[in-house]
Amino acid sequence: MKVTYDAETCTHAGECVKGAPNVFKVVDGAFVIDTAADSEENIRATVGNCPSGALKIHE
Ligand code: SF4
Repeated sequence: MKVTYDAETCTHAGECVKGAPNVFKVVDGAFVIDTAADSEENIRATVGNCPSGALKIHE
């Protein structure tokens, strides 16, 4: 499973960094997604909570 992020779609609601802080984080000013850092279940739930649709799951 891979998660992609579209910076132009993101509305900076912060649901991703709140829901799965080990997966979605900002490192040196860049948005990083580490899908190995949490359960697939929580990552899917967190992506589902993204209000803008900036996050997408690719199987
Ligand atoms: S939850 Fe979605 S809209 Fe909010 S900061 Fe994360 S990617 Fe952006």
